[in-house]
Amino acid sequence: RSSFLSVRDLHVRFTTLDGIVKAVDGLSFDLERGSTLGIVGESGSGKSVSSLAILGLHNPKKTVIGGEIHFDGVELTKASENEMNKLRGRRIAMIFQDALAALSPFYSVGEQIAETYRRHMGASRKEARQRAIDMLGRVGIPNPERRVDDYPHHFSGGMRQRAMIAIALACNPDLLIADEPTTALDVTVQSQILDLLGDLQSEFGTAIIFITHDLGVIAQTADDVLVMYAGRCVEKGTVREVLRDARHPYSWGLLSSVPDLGGDVDIPLRPVRGTPPSLLSPPPGCPFHPRCDYVARVGDDACKTSRPTLTLADGRGSACHLTADEKAEIFATEVRPL
Ligand code: SF4
Ligand code: MG
Repeated sequence: RSSFLSVRDLHVRFTTLDGIVKAVDGLSFDLERGSTLGIVGESGSGKSVSSLAILGLHNPKKTVIGGEIHFDGVELTKASENEMNKLRGRRIAMIFQDALAALSPFYSVGEQIAETYRRHMGASRKEARQRAIDMLGRVGIPNPERRVDDYPHHFSGGMRQRAMIAIALACNPDLLIADEPTTALDVTVQSQILDLLGDLQSEFGTAIIFITHDLGVIAQTADDVLVMYAGRCVEKGTVREVLRDARHPYSWGLLSSVPDLGGDVDIPLRPVRGTPPSLLSPPPGCPFHPRCDYVARVGDDACKTSRPTLTLADGRGSACHLTADEKAEIFATEVRPL
């Protein structure tokens, strides 16, 4: 396969005082240029750790990475720190939830965009300042010629998020990793930022990995979806398949915890009960079984003893022992579709 980004059997393990944490345990996916993969799951499901591994931002002394990450012909797990430094910011960029932490309080927003552009593109100071003004305009900051000299604390939360996007896209990266970038914003601003990212994606042709716990955000942004649980992918498909015809009980729980967005209101809200498992000692069998309502339906204690595997047909599949007919029936009668 010659996808632009191809992740194969990714494992990320790190050592803690309590033992070895298997944060990512055999993750595979492909991403094409210009398209968006949504990675969804609760905190601690391994979704952020996967992206840090792609960026080479893990602590090499404490972390063991297995598997392969092919990015446009480069094997990132074998790339040197020097090679990774060249890729980061220039060809792979990242935006986070907390713009205030990501931006420096000591430099103007314009200087921070210009500095990124100068460092990676070898532009002159004058060109870089002009790029900063252009980018601020592109992300919808009014009066960019004036705002370019403002500091982050002069900006509202939504504007800081726009400024972070401007920095991330200043060098026209091929891949943008967006980790909960709108989680701290109110719904209206969140929606504006998601629209903006969509517009910039079509303009720049950027591929996006969108990491979120919010299926509403997935519905608005993603082409394909990967549902993560306990460091593994439990369901994969197109956004339509996963939101309209989900096949894994964990995905059903995520869907059933989204307040009504036009789905079937006769089916009550029913968030996933319990808490995510410890990745130091994940449960045997299906890691979701302590929280799953369908263990008895599968019978023979299979959920508690045998680990379901993810088998994909045309990129579609789920890791669960229920039969295809059972999944279809349960989805139709018990789950609120998005
Ligand atoms: Fe639930 Fe069993 Fe399916 Fe796991 S394999 S999701 S425990 S029904
Ligand atoms: Mg996270």
